[in-house]
Amino acid sequence: MLYPHLAVNEQHHLTIGGLDTLSIAREYGTPCYVLDENVIRSRCRVYREACAEAFGPKALPLFASKALCFTGMYKIIAEEGLGIDCVSGGELYTAEKAGFPSDHIYFHGNNKTDADLKQAVGMHVGTIVVDGFDELEALETICAAAGTRQRILLRIAPGIDPHTFRAVRTGSVDSKFGTAIQTGQALEIVRKALSLPHIDLAGCHCHIGSQIFETQPFRDAAAIMVAFLVQIRKDCGVTLSELNLGGGPGVPYTQDDPSIDYRSFVTELGVIVRSVCESENFPVPSVRIEPGRSIVADAGLTLYTVGGVKEIPGFKNYISVDGGMPDNPRYALYQSRYTALIADRADEPKTYTATLAGRCCESGDLIGENMPIQKARRGDILAVLCTGAYNYSMASHYNRLPNPPVVLVRDGKTRLGVRRETYADLTALDQEI
Ligand SMILES: *Cc1c(COP(=O)(O)O)cnc(C)c1O
Repeated sequence: MLYPHLAVNEQHHLTIGGLDTLSIAREYGTPCYVLDENVIRSRCRVYREACAEAFGPKALPLFASKALCFTGMYKIIAEEGLGIDCVSGGELYTAEKAGFPSDHIYFHGNNKTDADLKQAVGMHVGTIVVDGFDELEALETICAAAGTRQRILLRIAPGIDPHTFRAVRTGSVDSKFGTAIQTGQALEIVRKALSLPHIDLAGCHCHIGSQIFETQPFRDAAAIMVAFLVQIRKDCGVTLSELNLGGGPGVPYTQDDPSIDYRSFVTELGVIVRSVCESENFPVPSVRIEPGRSIVADAGLTLYTVGGVKEIPGFKNYISVDGGMPDNPRYALYQSRYTALIADRADEPKTYTATLAGRCCESGDLIGENMPIQKARRGDILAVLCTGAYNYSMASHYNRLPNPPVVLVRDGKTRLGVRRETYADLTALDQEI
C-alpha cells in the first residue's frame, strides 16, 4: 500500500487506521472524507521536533490552514503545539471559535480588506504578514485608530521558480504576492515599515510554491532571504529577527511520485540558514515554516459509491461515483493525479483502466483519467487516496450537492469532525421573495 496507515483486512476490505472503510461508509454514508488523525498528529510532531533541532527551541512550525480548515482541525493543531497560518476572515473566525491561541496565528493574503485587518487587530493576531505598500498604510491607519502596535512580517518575492529549481531573474518577481527584491521595492517597503509608529517589523516571509519535492529551491530561497536580511542591516541599520520560509513540501499522490523525508528537509534548511548567517556574521533568525499539504494530504481519503460502469468500445471506460468536482475539484483545476481503488476488493490486482467521473452535469467533472483500478460494479465502495488537503477546503455546492462529512479515525474509533450537509443547509440562506 502506498500509505502505511492503509491496509487490507481478512474480508479483503480497505482499512484506514485499522478500521474497515466499508463500515465507515455504511455508518456515515458516501461521499465521505475520512482522516487518520494519528497520521496528522505524528506529522505535526515530525515538523515540531525537526524545527526545534534545526532552529532551536523557539522554532514554531505553522500549519497552513487553507489546506484543511474546520474547528476540530485547529484544536488538533493547538494540541500538537504548532502555530497556524490563516488567509481570510473566515479562517480567523474559525480559529477563534476553536479557541486557538491568537499569538500563534499568522495572517496572510495578497488582498486583505480593511475589515479583515480590523478583525485581525481586534483578535490580537500575533503576526500579520503584510503583502504590499497599500496594505501597510491601511494597517498603520487601523492600528493608530485602535491605539495598538502590530507585529508584522513583510511578504517578499525572492525571485525563485521552483519548477526550474533554481533562482531566476524574473520568475515569481511577476506575481500577485509580495514585494520583489529584484526591483528594489522590497528594500523600499522595509524602510517604509520601519518608519511607521504603529508597525513593529519583526522580519520577512516568502513562499515559493507547492507540491515541491526538490530541496534546492527551498535552499535557494533561504539563502536569498538571509542575504536580504543582511542587506537590510547594511542599508537600514536594523537586524530583523524572524524569517518565515513558507510551505510547499510535496506529497506522493501516485506510485510515480517521489516521496520526501520531512525531517531531513527541515534539517537541510537549518544547515543553509546557519551557514549563510555564519558567513555574513548575522545572528541566526527565528525560523518559521508553513507546511499545509504535507501535514494532512496523505492522512485523508474519500469514499464514494459506484453508480455505473460504462464501457465505450474503442474509447474509454467510465466509472461514475456519487461525488466529483464539488468535493474534489483538483483534477478539473490542475489535472492533479490520484490513486483510486475498490475498497470491497482492495487486494485484487488493478487490471482495469477507467476514467473516474463525478455526478455533475459537466464533462470536466472527473477525478482522474485512465486510472488503473479493480473492475467495479454498481454499489461498490471506491476510495480515492490522499485527499486530506485542498479537497474539503476547496469544496463547492455545484449542482446543489451537499458537502460530505469529515470523519476522523483515531485509536480504532471514529468521530465526526464536520457533519454532512443537509438539503435544509443548502436553502438555509435563501430568502422568501
Ligand atoms: C499555500 C501556502 C502555504 C502552504 O503550502 P503547502 O504546499 O500546502 O505546504 C504556506 N504558506 C503560504 C503563504 C501559502 O500560500
